[in-house]
Amino acid sequence: MSGALIVLSGPSGVGKGTVVSLATSLDSSIWIAPSMTTRKMRPNEDPFDETSEISRSKAYLFVDDTTFQETVESGGLIEWATYAGNRYGTLRTPVETRLEAGLPVLLEIEVQGADSVIEHMPHAKRVMLMPPSFAELARRLSGRGTDSETAKRMRLAKARSEMAQAPYYDHTIINDDASKAAEELVIYYRSWHVA
Ligand code: 5GP
Repeated sequence: MSGALIVLSGPSGVGKGTVVSLATSLDSSIWIAPSMTTRKMRPNEDPFDETSEISRSKAYLFVDDTTFQETVESGGLIEWATYAGNRYGTLRTPVETRLEAGLPVLLEIEVQGADSVIEHMPHAKRVMLMPPSFAELARRLSGRGTDSETAKRMRLAKARSEMAQAPYYDHTIINDDASKAAEELVIYYRSWHVA
């Protein structure tokens, strides 16, 4: 029997990364699928370690554009998308190995990628992480302070269309308190993981 595939998505700035890392501290059995990306590694990050069986935080394989494109063409990614000028995609082999062993998998990806997962793996369950209000999302995005006004407007317009997908998702979690949102995610994840 194939393991459960849970896809957590949501608009930019909603706090997916924080909620996922809180969820793994509540339940250490949660396994987060690693991705490949062309973005630069941040100072607090380690690259994905293929020999480690534990994946408690989102890990990336950092590559250049050519390697990313070759991986796409050889079928090495389940889905891929461009986000803020960088390419991101879910690595196929570690995910399929786990699912075939009947173990659950959590993907933390943006909305376009989540749509594409559902097309190819219709048994996946999609969870939309939503801000408490659109105004609050706008406030969180402005708080980042790094984007130009035009970039902020573009992100907000994109967020609005992403949030409009929520009714088509299997479950929605409102992120007004990250710890509570993480608890809700753990409950949902466990409800699909038949131990
Ligand atoms: P960050 O660069 O902050 O780690 O991630 C930026 C965005 O890319 C986040 O919305 C994250 O969910 C999304 N993302 C991370 N990995 C993947 C992936 O493999 N596929 C897709 N479609 N999105 C991803």
